Amino acid sequence: MRERFLAPTVGAVVLWGVVVGVASIAAALGTSSTNTLVTQMLIDAIVVVGLQVFIGNTGMLSFGHPAFGAYAGYVVALLTMPVSRKLIQIPDAPWGLAEAEVDPTIATFAAVAVTLVVGAIVGLALVRSGASSGAVAATMITLAFLFVTHEIALNWTDLTDGGGGLGFIPRLDGRLPIVLSLLVVLLVGRWFAESRPGRLAKAVREDGLAAAASGVDRVRPQMAALFLSVLIIAVGAVLRVRALGSMTPSFFYFDYTLLTLAMLIVGGRNSLTGSMLGVVTITAGIEFTRILAGESVSIPGLDWLLRPNLSDLFLGGAMLGFMLIRPRGLLGDWELDHWLRRWIPLRRRSTPGAVSDRSGRKHILEAKGIGATFSGFRALSDVSLRVETGEIVGLIGPNGAGKTTLINVMSGLVPGHDGQVLLDDEDLTGLAPHDLAARGIGRTFQNLRLFSDLTVRENVEIARIAHDRRGHDIDVDALLHAAGLTDVADRRASELDYGNQRRLELIRATATAPAFLLLDEPTSGMGEAESSAMVDFVRHLAGEIGAGVLVIDHDLHFIVSICDRIYVLDHGELIASGSPDVVRNDALVRAAYLGED
Ligand code: ADP
Ligand code: MG
Repeated sequence: MRERFLAPTVGAVVLWGVVVGVASIAAALGTSSTNTLVTQMLIDAIVVVGLQVFIGNTGMLSFGHPAFGAYAGYVVALLTMPVSRKLIQIPDAPWGLAEAEVDPTIATFAAVAVTLVVGAIVGLALVRSGASSGAVAATMITLAFLFVTHEIALNWTDLTDGGGGLGFIPRLDGRLPIVLSLLVVLLVGRWFAESRPGRLAKAVREDGLAAAASGVDRVRPQMAALFLSVLIIAVGAVLRVRALGSMTPSFFYFDYTLLTLAMLIVGGRNSLTGSMLGVVTITAGIEFTRILAGESVSIPGLDWLLRPNLSDLFLGGAMLGFMLIRPRGLLGDWELDHWLRRWIPLRRRSTPGAVSDRSGRKHILEAKGIGATFSGFRALSDVSLRVETGEIVGLIGPNGAGKTTLINVMSGLVPGHDGQVLLDDEDLTGLAPHDLAARGIGRTFQNLRLFSDLTVRENVEIARIAHDRRGHDIDVDALLHAAGLTDVADRRASELDYGNQRRLELIRATATAPAFLLLDEPTSGMGEAESSAMVDFVRHLAGEIGAGVLVIDHDLHFIVSICDRIYVLDHGELIASGSPDVVRNDALVRAAYLGED
């Protein structure tokens, strides 16, 4: 097994042991109603893992995921109900369902398959809307999906018998299938978070724009997370229906959404360990409030609270409280295996070698006649420039001259501009940012954009694994070493000081093995010594990977000292270009840039 999956595997098994252990103790100490509660809790745990896989890894909030459970629940109910019972409840069921009776195992596979088809349809809408209109649109889609599913279940009475629901579904025999399923889904959930699609999804969650600029195409990782979460929820739903022996439209509706989301949010949506803590905490809390609301307890002055729906109040209150005070939940993104890792012996990493061994082919990146307009304001007009591999080209100009906009155009962030972006005479105009990154155009941002909650190493690794390009041979350890970040490689990116964050962003861009690096003010906010160290570092990295560099800086002296050629922008127009000497002595440049007459 690959080393990076070892600790998560151990972690998931231990986590499973703890949850099942707690459940067994509760079941042994309690009454038969506790027994039912424990079964329910273990099933909820499975569903919450399903929610976590999607919501945790993609950061897209979904209210609708339990509705996937409704499809699985109805399929298993319709396929396994005794024919004698169907002829009474749903004699007019379509597709000959009234006469069919299938083995529960086969019915489970059918339920999962049908639910995955529903997931594919909803998922495409979800992931696409997330790309075009943001996370709110995606959340609204999930909510609408929940309502629509409920209405179908209520109204398609030939199939579902309406609100009363379907009964006499063959019951599960003991808790073993639930306990085993929980183990499998915990393992799969933890593996997914460490897998390539899981890590890419997390990068998009942290910063969609920076992920795209690193070559991450958001659709595939997000769809992978969605499919896996739908699969897990379908399994949980089948178990739930078979544990209860019945299925109604309200089983996977608002109450269940509220319950499972509260579990996820209270525990920590970015962590499987946290989600499981949430499941146990919320289950215990509900049980406690249920006992409190019983007639035997009386609290003077608070009796108005002690009503049967006290547990709903508790759920809503817990969610509200956590969203306000501790939105990352009890555990944030801490996983059991982060802690276990100390006891699991890992092979020591080899000493880092060279950053890469790129072949020395020559490439030319060209912007031709670029124009860009923002709501009537002309930010760039007819700007052309060219960078070859192996050279460092400067782009200077006063604030607001259009420098950042030009880099945005060349990295695909300004759709609908005029002119062309060419790589070796191939027209790349109009390509998405992740496609341009995949063609070898890497960039950094004027205002740092790191994957803040991921570790330093993950920031770099994501860029390396985002695409498989030929001749792509970047050593992440060597990059970390070159940037002086080896000792902090396992820290969160957000914990680094500013200079280290700047260097991290630069090596993240380098990790895509770009043919061209577009750097937007890499020394901004740095003192003189730090700036000049940064300049050396840029030069060193570019040399190692054989890239061409286009660098923006406001400091004319700095640019003059490192660049082979310089372009000067002012008010969106190119006013000069040429060697440092030519540009420095250009009258127009001195006027625009240095304020001389
Ligand atoms: P520079 O990087 O040279 O300081 P920019 O490229 O950031 O300049 O900005 C050039 C001009 O374009 C500025 O006046 C800025 O306000 C405007 N601009 C840039 N991006 C946008 C945008 N997305 N929407 C509206 N105006 C923009
Ligand atoms: Mg700028």
